[in-house]
Amino acid sequence: MREIWNKVDEYLNFNLLKEDRVLEDVLKANHEAGLPSIDVSPAQGKFLYLLAKLKGAKHILEIGTLGGYSSIWMGRALPEDGLLITLEYSQKHAQVAKENIKKAGLETKIEIIVGPALETLPTLKDIGYPSFDLIFIDADKPNNPHYLKWALEYSHPGTVIIGDNVVRNGRVVDEKSVDPGVKGSRELIDVLAKESRIEATALQTVGSKGYDGFVIGVVK
Ligand code: SAM
Repeated sequence: MREIWNKVDEYLNFNLLKEDRVLEDVLKANHEAGLPSIDVSPAQGKFLYLLAKLKGAKHILEIGTLGGYSSIWMGRALPEDGLLITLEYSQKHAQVAKENIKKAGLETKIEIIVGPALETLPTLKDIGYPSFDLIFIDADKPNNPHYLKWALEYSHPGTVIIGDNVVRNGRVVDEKSVDPGVKGSRELIDVLAKESRIEATALQTVGSKGYDGFVIGVVK
């Protein structure tokens, strides 16, 4: 199956995504710096970009920067006075991302905050970021339920919250799984099922990044 998913991704990317030297260079720089290849795929990046455009997002929060690939996609959808805050644990990843963001010409629109997200999230209000229009959760999966709670804290009615990698090759249905990522996904779905402040769904995805899925919701 993987072969056909790759071929379809190539076909769709060739037709629907313009050749993009900046983003290609970002992936190259990430690879050369030894970062893991766990960024969103190009089609998913464009999906996030379109989502930010559809939402007319002016303030975006991302949890999990890596080399800034998804930050750059979403940052490109911002208006002139828009801002994306992205939270990253690893100093090394943040440094690579900073250089990539500069090369993409987005250094005035994207700010990286380094540290464990559960420690940096509580500080955002104090440093002048009370709420966001779009929040993308894509860091350490076991903390997803906590990230969702913080995302709700930094939301207003209409905020779009999206989380990546919730299907985990189908293993999300394994209620006995001891895998921390699977457990994080299941706990996230449990919180969403009970949470009255958000309307959510999840979509399974296949492609060059394998079989996974996004959870997406709108705050009431
Ligand atoms: N969103 C990125 C993209 O698509 O280009 C990919 C992010 S990658 C899946 C996850 C990132 O989250 C890694 O860079 C990792 O270092 C970071 N991370 C892991 N644990 C974290 C934590 N506790 N706080 C903040 N970032 C964390």
